[in-house]
Amino acid sequence: MSPTQKTLIADVKNEQAAKPILEVSNLRMHFPIKAGVMQKTVGRVKAVDGVSFQVQPGETLGIVGESGCGKSTLGRAIIRLYQPTSGNVIFQGKDITRLKEGELRKNVRKQIQMVFQDPFASLNPRKTLENCIIEPLKTHGTPKIEQKERVRELLDTVGLDATFANRYPHEFSGGQRQRIGIARALALNPNLVIADEPVSALDVSIQAQIINLMEDLQQKYNLTYLFISHDLGVVRHISDRVGVMYLGNMMELAEKHDLYKEPLHPYTQALLSAVPAPRKKGKKKRERIILSGELPSPANPPNGCVFHTRCPAAIDVCSQQIPKLQEVHPKHYVACHLYE
Ligand code: SF4
Repeated sequence: MSPTQKTLIADVKNEQAAKPILEVSNLRMHFPIKAGVMQKTVGRVKAVDGVSFQVQPGETLGIVGESGCGKSTLGRAIIRLYQPTSGNVIFQGKDITRLKEGELRKNVRKQIQMVFQDPFASLNPRKTLENCIIEPLKTHGTPKIEQKERVRELLDTVGLDATFANRYPHEFSGGQRQRIGIARALALNPNLVIADEPVSALDVSIQAQIINLMEDLQQKYNLTYLFISHDLGVVRHISDRVGVMYLGNMMELAEKHDLYKEPLHPYTQALLSAVPAPRKKGKKKRERIILSGELPSPANPPNGCVFHTRCPAAIDVCSQQIPKLQEVHPKHYVACHLYE
């Protein structure tokens, strides 16, 4: 092979490697508020309101924010458990936003899987563990002869004994149930796993085990994670990049180290100031930023910057104009008028 051909092949490989596995652009998920005998729509809950980001193959993008900021809705809209109001979800180069259910099941559901906060709720209490895991294999046409072997393989992969296959979900501890949830998600060899608060319901020591397991599996199967959590410590541990959401909007998006070392958005600064951190020798103690007021309702979000009613740095323009998410430093995006 000539040097030119080798360079061409390398270029093509680099180009493919740089292609995002997931592109979310201007995604909106608004839920109608119905009232009266005729069930008329009287308003809209803007759970996700124009969120855009990309995820590269093999990376972990953490999404953090307070409860009610729209992060779980975002995950569900991406996997199409909810039909997005507008915007686009491009998965592996294909727009899946408006695919019909049959096409979704055939082409997408195998490759994007979800791990839920409460694995018990996603497991049928009347089915044995084997039947719970076999279910997606059956749905997607895995030959019957391979199904039981695949269940055993998956249990081994997530660190559970193969003899557990005949037990029922209530016989397992919280950590074991989450391992089952992960085994179920991996059953069809997905490329992207959306994990929605996968460790929030677990004790700290079990949390660490599940996070380590997820990291090992990512290495082994080259998985891409969208990791949704309210816990800044957990997100910091597992993520490569982190996006911070507030009231359905992406406020800041950056490489993990940049975001935790130098948060730029006033909301991220307030969130991080509340995380206890060891004081470094010779450094001033980090001051806690207390946000005033309550989180506004997503049914009636403030005009302009949605954070302006609580922002300690707000200026006049903040209540009038919506700030755009823009690159302030390389790969560090912020939606705030202070950086325009
Ligand atoms: S745009 Fe204004 S209100 Fe919003 S975060 Fe920046 S300074 Fe605060």
